[in-house]
Amino acid sequence: QMANETLKAELGNAAWKLLHTILARYPEAPVESEKVYLKRYIESFAQVYPCGDCARHFIKLLQQYPPQIGSRKSAAMWGCFIHNKVNERLAKPRYDCTTILEDYDCGCGADELLGDE
Ligand code: FAD
Repeated sequence: QMANETLKAELGNAAWKLLHTILARYPEAPVESEKVYLKRYIESFAQVYPCGDCARHFIKLLQQYPPQIGSRKSAAMWGCFIHNKVNERLAKPRYDCTTILEDYDCGCGADELLGDE
């Protein structure tokens, strides 16, 4: 078995990757239902994150800095900001958020989200 720290880091890498990619693909002008889904997703993500200590801290961060779900840009910038808050606590370097939308390309081209159809 790999060392616990390695496993925890891999889990973190994967979790952040998915979260940032979801936020970079969130609609530019979300309708109400899309806002509700994203808010629920982030809250559930925090609640089920499988490292108890991480989850506890992240839930507190969410209370202090609620997800910005008004648009793609604000959601992606919020995700970058909150990850930087975690980086700060772990004494990791701050990430430059200016190209966050380009940094997390899902490889799904012009495919849009499912929508309401
Ligand atoms: P990661 O932080 O995993 O980042 C992966 C990659 O994302 C980086 O290499 C960089 O390319 C990019 N990146 C870095 N910062 C940003 C940013 N701000 N925005 C966008 N992209 C960025 N670990 C603990 O030990 N204690 C904790 O309390 C803890 N809490 C966590 C809470 C959550 C919700 C998550 C998802 C993870 C948590 N982790 C925690 C794991 C920790 O955040 C890292 O994932 C882990 O330490 C590995 O770090 P890393 O240096 O490989 O880069």
